[in-house]
Amino acid sequence: MKKNIAIFSLLIFILSAGISCQENSRTKQQKDPMHQENTHSKPKDCSGVHWSHHKGHDGPENWKNLCDGFADCGGQRQSPVDIDTKKVTESADLKAPGFHYGKTRTRIINNGHTVQFDVDEGSTVKLNGKDYRLLQFHYHAPSEHTVNGRHYPLEVHFVHQHAGDDLAVIGIFFKEGKKNPLFEKYLNKFPEKEGKYDSADLIDLMSLMPDDKSYYYYDGSLTTPPCTEIVSWYVMKQPLEASKDQIEKFSKILNRNFRPVQPLNGRRIRLYNDKKG
Ligand SMILES: [Zn+2]
Repeated sequence: MKKNIAIFSLLIFILSAGISCQENSRTKQQKDPMHQENTHSKPKDCSGVHWSHHKGHDGPENWKNLCDGFADCGGQRQSPVDIDTKKVTESADLKAPGFHYGKTRTRIINNGHTVQFDVDEGSTVKLNGKDYRLLQFHYHAPSEHTVNGRHYPLEVHFVHQHAGDDLAVIGIFFKEGKKNPLFEKYLNKFPEKEGKYDSADLIDLMSLMPDDKSYYYYDGSLTTPPCTEIVSWYVMKQPLEASKDQIEKFSKILNRNFRPVQPLNGRRIRLYNDKKG
C-alpha cells in the first residue's frame, strides 16, 4: 500500500504541470516570518517542499536532506552520469528501439523547473523487449549527461512508462548547427515563467528523433527529486541540432536547470551501435 501511494505520488509529480515553487515565490517565503524554516528538522512529507537546480539550501547537493521522500537523491544508482566513451562496452544483447510514435496536439508547460511538452496517448516504444508509453518530453540546459566530461548546450528527455515503477527515458543532446524546426515553430510561445501554451497543431513525434538510433544504456534514476531509482536510461549517441540563437534563447528560459553528474558506483554503461556492418 505504501508503495502504491509512493508510485502514485511519483506519477502525479511526473505528470503535474502546475507545481509552484519558483525562485521568486521562495524569496517571498523567506521574507515572511510566519514561513521561516527550521533547518534542524526535515519534514517527512515532501509535498510542497521547494527544491531548485541552483546552489544553496534547496540545491542539488542538499536534495536528499530536504524531506524523507527525497532520500533516494543520496542513493547509489543516481542520474545523470558522465559517459566515458573509452569505458563504454558495445553490447550485442541490446536491441534497436522500436518506435511507434504518432502525432500529438501541442501542450507546452513551464512548471518552474523545465519546459515540458505533454503528449497525447498512443505513442509507444519497444525497448529491449518491453513496451513503454510516452508521457511527456522536456528540456535541460546545459545537458545533464556529459560525454567525456563535456556538456552539450541542451538535452531533451522523452519520459516513458512501462509500469508504475518502471520508467525509460530517452535522452538526446543538442549541438550548435542548423535551425531546429520545432524550436523555430514554438520557441516564441514557450512560457518564460510558469505557464502554459496550448494549440491544436499536431507535432509528428518521430520527426524529433535523430536518424542514427545508437544509444548508451545504463540503470539510473529521475534527475529531479524524488530521484527515484526506477529509470532505464537510453542516451542517444547522435545529437540533434539547433542554431546558436535558438540555444541562447532557450537556455535563458531554462536557466541552468541541470543536475550535476553522479558517481556510477560500479554501474556499467553499454552501447547499442546502430551502424550495421
Ligand atoms: Zn529531465
